[in-house]
Amino acid sequence: MAEIRLTGRTASPGLALGPFTVLATAVAARTETGDPAQETAALLAAIEAATAELADLVATVEGDAADILEFQVAMLGDDALAEGAFDAITAGIPADHAWRAALDAEIADYGAADDEHFRARTADLVDIRDRVLAQLNGVDRAAAIPAGAIVACDDISPSAFLAADWSGGGALALASGSPSSHVAMLARARGAPMVVGLGPLSWEGRIPATALVDGDAGTVILDPEPETRRHFEQRMAAAAAARAAAEADSTKPAITADGRRIAVLLNVAAPEELAGLDPAICDGIGLVRTEFLFEASRGLPDEDTQYAVYRRILDWAAGRPVTIRTLDAGGDKPIPGLTVDRESNPFLGVRGIRLSLARPDVFRVQLRALARAAAHGVLKVMLPMVAVPAELAAAAALLDAEIGALEASGIACARPPLGIMVEVPAAALRAEDFAAAFYSIGSNDLTQYTMAAARDIGAVADLNDTGNPAVLALIARTVEVGRARGVEVSLCGDAGADTRLTTALLATGLTTFSVAPVAVAQLKAAIATVNR
Ligand code: PEP
Ligand code: MG
Repeated sequence: MAEIRLTGRTASPGLALGPFTVLATAVAARTETGDPAQETAALLAAIEAATAELADLVATVEGDAADILEFQVAMLGDDALAEGAFDAITAGIPADHAWRAALDAEIADYGAADDEHFRARTADLVDIRDRVLAQLNGVDRAAAIPAGAIVACDDISPSAFLAADWSGGGALALASGSPSSHVAMLARARGAPMVVGLGPLSWEGRIPATALVDGDAGTVILDPEPETRRHFEQRMAAAAAARAAAEADSTKPAITADGRRIAVLLNVAAPEELAGLDPAICDGIGLVRTEFLFEASRGLPDEDTQYAVYRRILDWAAGRPVTIRTLDAGGDKPIPGLTVDRESNPFLGVRGIRLSLARPDVFRVQLRALARAAAHGVLKVMLPMVAVPAELAAAAALLDAEIGALEASGIACARPPLGIMVEVPAAALRAEDFAAAFYSIGSNDLTQYTMAAARDIGAVADLNDTGNPAVLALIARTVEVGRARGVEVSLCGDAGADTRLTTALLATGLTTFSVAPVAVAQLKAAIATVNR
């Protein structure tokens, strides 16, 4: 049989070859009771059991994975989700049909949303729907994914993904899906290649036996010809050897081929990510995204909660510098009760420092916790989305006021250096106007604002390119200003982990990168190959 080549979009890089597995959700028939009261009780029990199942699963994972499952627990706990189903049961519809119809309507709403962030959450709703249906139907839904398999399906739920072991290979080939879905984030963190948007998966006659997934190119080949397979295996072997060599050197300092020492810092989105990591792989932490504190807490996190987390991160760093960013909510990171709903363009709205200054009650608590933590390590504080010097000045005044109040109460604290993210073109073009203690380039936002190509819209992904000369020029300009002012300039956006850009980024004069822990080894290896 001739090989079948499919093209989609990359959602997680890497190469994988393995047995082809079509993932289907187990379905079983259920005997209806015909009594609305019993059907209501059955649905309630199924929701409760599904919630307990998810809670058990949360206890077995950490970091993003736990956040995603907790998000599902929260959705299941929202009475509004099942309201339509209970109404339908009262009107005589059996529990499983009622639940499916209610969730399908919700899934359709999310799927039709303009915002890719919302569309990407449909997989979570499908997951929730099927988990409760499985409880109602009394079937074990966890369709087993064999280790090392190339899993083909329309989309996959986070819990189905997490139920599989990806440590020994395997990959995902999805007919639909999204690079910004929760599953895509999980796949990148676990190193499982993933291609999305392949369109209807079809083959003639017999189901393919094997498949190759090229997560770098965004392609999938079903039943590869022997020659295709041989060539692919050679590429896999070369990539594995390069990875192993890079891992072995990951605790060594990053030095270019012509001898320039480059600092490699870590980006941290949740403190659990640091568990089990050797601090020697990095020169410090360049970005702590504190949104996790606000997303996970019901209500806003209090000063002591924040202080404890910041101290834990400083303790882990063992004397290395740690840059903690103040809350960067808004844009694609809504926080109920805090961010502004229904802005026509949230990326250009009240996000980052704009929101913090609009909510000094919330901002002051974070600044106090940071000033207290600063007494226990090398802490720097960074402001997101700064566009004009007045924002930095206003934040500095608030920080000074809180430090004054802490000192007056005899509470130990210190004044951390206050720097800004350079992620709005206006800040890059006038960096010299800001009395910042350091600059950190947020290439994700700097690229989307410079190129007018949203970071979460796949259709403009080609334009959303940090390697574009316009973006590189803004980075180079910021580096130059930092040098003239004698302050550090780092880059903490995702472009730092894209080794195809390492040469171009180093050519801007950057000497400090901050990347996710999984990217450290490969980045150091890429830096080692660069000559001026
Ligand atoms: C960035 O914009 O590059 C950045 C690091 O911030 P975030 O991705 O959290 O917006
Ligand atoms: Mg940003």
